[in-house]
Amino acid sequence: MKKIIKNGTIVTATDTYRADVCIENGVISGIGMNLSEVDAEVVDATGKYVFPGGIDPHTHLDMPFGGTVTRDDFETGTKAAAFGGTTTIIDFCLTKKGESLSSSLAEWHRKSKEKAVIDYGFHLQIVEMNDKVLNELPEMVEKEGITSFKVFMAYKNQFQADDETLFRTLVAAKELKALVMVHAENGDVIDYLVKKAINEGKTEPIYHALTRPPEVEGEATGRAATLTGLADSQLYVVHVSCAEAARKIAEARNNGINIWGETCPQYLVLDQTYLEKPNFEGAKYVWSPPLREKWNQDILWNAIKTGQLQTIGSDQCSFDFVGQKDLGKDDFSKIPNGGPLIEDRVSILYSEGVAKGRISLNQFVDITSTAAAKLFGLYPKKGTIAVGADADIVIFDPTIERTISVKNHHMAVDYNPFEGLQVTGEPVSVLSRGEFVIRNHQFVGKPGVGEFVKRAKFGERKVDKDVSATLH
Ligand SMILES: [Zn+2]
Repeated sequence: MKKIIKNGTIVTATDTYRADVCIENGVISGIGMNLSEVDAEVVDATGKYVFPGGIDPHTHLDMPFGGTVTRDDFETGTKAAAFGGTTTIIDFCLTKKGESLSSSLAEWHRKSKEKAVIDYGFHLQIVEMNDKVLNELPEMVEKEGITSFKVFMAYKNQFQADDETLFRTLVAAKELKALVMVHAENGDVIDYLVKKAINEGKTEPIYHALTRPPEVEGEATGRAATLTGLADSQLYVVHVSCAEAARKIAEARNNGINIWGETCPQYLVLDQTYLEKPNFEGAKYVWSPPLREKWNQDILWNAIKTGQLQTIGSDQCSFDFVGQKDLGKDDFSKIPNGGPLIEDRVSILYSEGVAKGRISLNQFVDITSTAAAKLFGLYPKKGTIAVGADADIVIFDPTIERTISVKNHHMAVDYNPFEGLQVTGEPVSVLSRGEFVIRNHQFVGKPGVGEFVKRAKFGERKVDKDVSATLH
């Protein structure tokens, strides 16, 4: 059935204007005033913003880590994402040394297929580089629609790849038109610092931060940027947490290197002192890279404002405080890394960014949706409100005041790191390809209706529906 979203204010990465949106067959078929309402369901959006659905380029759902598995899977995770105004996620498909990429990919499809309530894509981890991997990569890009590769420079003896692997991945990505992503921290140095701390009896959560100082992130970011320039390839640095790394990215960009950076809400709002909370509560705030000294927040906001960092990922990676985080009760290095953020990513950015006057409305849409769509081959199918685009739409009430809490969040995890944070603005209704997933704050979606999206190659755009058929 045709839908018309009426009387709202449309906001894209470039424009803010009053118009109605007509939706047919899952796509936006018209934008304008006085659209025909014959046979249409009219959705009133008076006083609301109409945003393109959020795109979260960084999630870990149903992911094994350190002997346990994240609490949120593709059902609870995508449902929480939808409540928060996100309509597409790109999750990380992990791979194993010696195993084929296609078998890892099949596993990630198994985890997600029957469960996702919104659309999703995958990035592919590269843990080793050899002829077998090189032979498989073209098929991943061309046939499977996986056009971004992730390399970890940290997590020694687990996920970490060496510089040769990173460099060969950059070279291959240039050839295949894929985007390389890095977790930029120097894993070798961290490994030394962690062992030294444990030997000295320093086992509390705060030592997680103290053994991964900003220098190891800055160094790895600079190294990855230099290698990208040498390979004349393209790089996306995930979860930039500090001034050292943001400056390396800005410097490389000024030198003409193709590099982009993402930060996450926790680095903009929380700081290192949270790791010092008593009774092991600091474990709730263990991310890698770690939370930093508070002054870094101004540097990150400024980098967002000036376009030196382009996107916001949630780095959703949720573990219960009781039964999972406490694996590291006597040894901070055994605390599973990560936190639940998939639901509040958009709200926090709106509230802390737009409502507090740090960024404009259009910048907010760009960094929570459009920029990621463009970088990861989803645009213009996703990431904007335009005729022919998927009708992934958020109807957002900027006046609602809400307190973030484990008591009312929809993630499966037993705490919220932003407990008590007051936010302004909340999605009222969320549509995925023209169907309501959230309607007046109620979940009305269905597991399994989310589709896997094959993404365009880096720097290319594809439109996979001929919209002329739906235009009037
Ligand atoms: Zn991550």
